[in-house]
Amino acid sequence: MVHTMAHTLDLGRRVELVSMDPHAGDISLGLYREDSPEGPGYLIHTYSANPEAARRVEFLTRAAEVLGGARGAPGQRFRFPCQTGHQTAARRLFLEAAKLPTGDELQPRPLTVHDRKSGQDLTVEPLGAGRYRVTTSTADEARCAVLANGLRKLAEMDATEGQPVVAFPCGQDHHELVGLLLPRALNVRAALREEESALSRGQLSAPSSQK
Ligand SMILES: [Zn+2]
Repeated sequence: MVHTMAHTLDLGRRVELVSMDPHAGDISLGLYREDSPEGPGYLIHTYSANPEAARRVEFLTRAAEVLGGARGAPGQRFRFPCQTGHQTAARRLFLEAAKLPTGDELQPRPLTVHDRKSGQDLTVEPLGAGRYRVTTSTADEARCAVLANGLRKLAEMDATEGQPVVAFPCGQDHHELVGLLLPRALNVRAALREEESALSRGQLSAPSSQK
């Protein structure tokens, strides 16, 4: 199959990369963003002709919908129902989905996470209109603040001064995204390092250089 320049441009702008996917023969996968009047849509794409590639892309797109609360959009894309980009969260959603083997059972994650560092469960309570409060039965406010700060960074949420409350700027709920990001938000430095190393591994292989 010949990939013309027009085909490449149709993908949109690449915003994230998995350079070697161990669950699909080490193929490279890109996450592409295309803005449209209905809101930004994301496309997972690979240039690989590996027989597993199409099935992998299909699984990851489905995972984005289930684990991130995204909806299918034209052209195999997905987008968030609020029609907002949430690009930082979308990139994280793609990276988290790519950790799962193809065919893994997909279920939205709970709004509670066990914090090994303090030995307690932290819960995120929806307040409506895209706002969430981090709570714990032991009233350990420091860990609640850590989790709220992690969510703020990983999902580009707005913080409330002096309170463990974070909010999506679109003003709409995204329970699935919050549940997915909770474990990562407890160690946001490691999560950000992972993103940086994915980016520094460079460009998605062009068709000519990848079998
Ligand atoms: Zn939103």
